[in-house]
Amino acid sequence: MPKLQELTARETIQKIRSNEATAEECVHAVFERIHRLEDKVNAYVTLVEEEALKKAREIDRKVSEGKPVGKLAGVAIAVKDAICTQGIPTTCSSRMLKNFVPPYDAEVIERIKREDGVIVGKTNMDEFAMGSSTETSHFGPTRNPWNLSRVPGGSSGGSAACIATDEATLALGTDTGGSIRCPASYCSVVGLKPTYGLVSRYGLIAYANSLEQIGPMAKDVYDCALFLTVIAGHDSKDGTSVKAAPKDYTEFLKDTVKGFKIGVPIEFFGEGTSDEVEKQVWNGIHKLEELGASCEETSLPTLEHSLATYYIIAMSEASSNLARYDGIRYGYRVDKDEGDWTTVYSRNRRIGFGAEVRRRIILGTYALSAGYYNKYYLKALKVRTLIRKDFENAFKKFDVLIGPTMPFPPFKIGEKIKDPLALYMSDVDTVSANLAGLPAISIPCGFTNGLPIGMQIMASPLREDLTLQAAYTFEQNTAYKNRKPTVE
Ligand code: GLN
Repeated sequence: MPKLQELTARETIQKIRSNEATAEECVHAVFERIHRLEDKVNAYVTLVEEEALKKAREIDRKVSEGKPVGKLAGVAIAVKDAICTQGIPTTCSSRMLKNFVPPYDAEVIERIKREDGVIVGKTNMDEFAMGSSTETSHFGPTRNPWNLSRVPGGSSGGSAACIATDEATLALGTDTGGSIRCPASYCSVVGLKPTYGLVSRYGLIAYANSLEQIGPMAKDVYDCALFLTVIAGHDSKDGTSVKAAPKDYTEFLKDTVKGFKIGVPIEFFGEGTSDEVEKQVWNGIHKLEELGASCEETSLPTLEHSLATYYIIAMSEASSNLARYDGIRYGYRVDKDEGDWTTVYSRNRRIGFGAEVRRRIILGTYALSAGYYNKYYLKALKVRTLIRKDFENAFKKFDVLIGPTMPFPPFKIGEKIKDPLALYMSDVDTVSANLAGLPAISIPCGFTNGLPIGMQIMASPLREDLTLQAAYTFEQNTAYKNRKPTVE
């Protein structure tokens, strides 16, 4: 019998609805796990145990009175610390925001609460979501549950790690250039970056608005689809929100890929891809072929430029978004007021932000400055259009495109942090989905030396159904989902 914290969201809800367990017991089991493992994993920045247990008891009361409960009733949910939660600190893992307590909930949080989800805490991340390893957090790195000396991926490293260890049942991540898929791959969980505009960004602390999306992270594909169903939908508070009809994404989970046309862009297996990753991802693709899909290698030549394009756009947007943190109107203020305005402003930002965030603000400001704007930023926007067109053409022929999520397995903590370019290179296969606004899912597809490998499945905008169906079929016919890390 699996222990309560080991259940998926779907199983938890069934147990609670059928009176086999109470929500309080389920949430309590998750907190026991958290208290046992957090010293080692460091997935959380803030925990809200008392509030979570209170919410669980409310749900139990509804169940005992025969009242209906929501789609996420009693499920322990962790939230990346870039998403505003009313009354709960929201730090972006930065000293700059360490005292920020939002007076409101992000739209996704309201939706979770409406469906009786139980928020258990806020998860650790790279500072302001800038990174791929969760090492730039002001609160120290999160460790990979599969090997504590390795990174869990990032920037949503805490969200992926807490699911892998049963320290939460579902988690919200955000993905600007891979931050849901990278840690999902490195921790062997499921993570989906939705189509741009499908999930409201209202209440998400901005890093690079034109690229990022909030998305679900889960133990399996069913839970991922269920969570997406709750958080997706039009929101008039977000000007980029798409007016798509609400869907129940769990209805697309059919165990077949018969007739699916899979394209495999050769650029996804470029220089720097490890042999083991290449081998296991191809095994995954062949498995889907065996299950009825057809598969063909293809080429999207502009993908070669996606990393450079992404970093110019992301840093430019970041420099603009983060200008507001001056320690006067917003953010951390050094307790010392000498000097003129520029001195005070610079001091607050030098001490409030970590090195990676400062680097990006400087580079982004450079790319946007007069004289360089045309050469860098505008050029990047044009290349972005070409990348989008390459995808449009590919999707005329293929239902889904498949490749690795990450080019190599999780690396050692400290191994790349001093070499920003090496770290940026790890995003080579993920950033293109953000540039083109596509849905992309990462699912576990193998291991090498005990370290997880993830496979990425992309589809054209608003075709989450195709990514989920392919992922579900793969999961149903393989056993990677059942493998768990042993942290103790
Ligand atoms: N690693 C990428 C970056 O540092 C992506 C981060 C993200 O998706 N938030 O920008």
